[in-house]
Amino acid sequence: MSGFPVSLDGVSKRYPTASAEVPAALESVTFAIDAGSMVAVAGPSGSGKSTLLHVVGGMDESDSGSIRVGEREVSSLSRKEQVAYRRTIGFVFQRFHLLPALTALDNVAAPLLPRHADFDKLGRARELLGAVGLDGKAATVPSRLSGGEQQRVAIARALINDPGLLLADEPSGNLDSATSSEIIELLLRLRDERGMTVLVATHDPVVAARCERIITLRDGRVVDDVAVERKAGDNLLGRIGRLDLRG
Ligand code: ADP
Repeated sequence: MSGFPVSLDGVSKRYPTASAEVPAALESVTFAIDAGSMVAVAGPSGSGKSTLLHVVGGMDESDSGSIRVGEREVSSLSRKEQVAYRRTIGFVFQRFHLLPALTALDNVAAPLLPRHADFDKLGRARELLGAVGLDGKAATVPSRLSGGEQQRVAIARALINDPGLLLADEPSGNLDSATSSEIIELLLRLRDERGMTVLVATHDPVVAARCERIITLRDGRVVDDVAVERKAGDNLLGRIGRLDLRG
């Protein structure tokens, strides 16, 4: 599936349990993302990154505003349309969320198993395990995989429905810095190969700087939105030093 363009216009959300003094989780968030781009949603803890991914992915509802993903207006889908919509989106989480009793291969195929399909489900899962560099680990259970390998399995699983948009919430938040870099490079390569749009929520400036654009939230508002230029010999670390993502 080719990548979905994503656009938000005046999106706000306040959790019902939040007290009046707490800022809204999202407040008038407006931006547009080109199909096939890889964009970081940055900002400190509590700034609204997860909430943003959840409302874009149809896992939670916004209070107001418009969210367009591809051809769909996500904020006005019926329950049935939401189910169909979520099958066109891939999700990757900080804590992997693999099923411990299943092998890597079965974890990747798991989203397809309840559904009738006229293609070879395990064959597709095997191809995706190869695409994330885990050819030899198909029969291994998650507890015998490293953190980075577990996240690769989770990424392969997120791709099983060939999504037009991949939403990754702190995908390297549980990994050391070398493994974190590998996971981000893998996401970039998969985006290049498959053309999907990728939104990565992260509080890590190094991860954000690998994306093409960084949208920074603070107290639920967009406070910065910059394109990341990449030139030969670029002093990446110098630029990261100038990005104040910590709040
Ligand atoms: P981030 O992902 O940047 O850490 P979140 O989107 O998780 O930020 O949170 C944004 C705000 O919404 C925070 O003030 C947080 O406490 C609040 N919040 C998040 N989830 C819930 C929830 N389920 N119920 C009530 N408040 C929540």
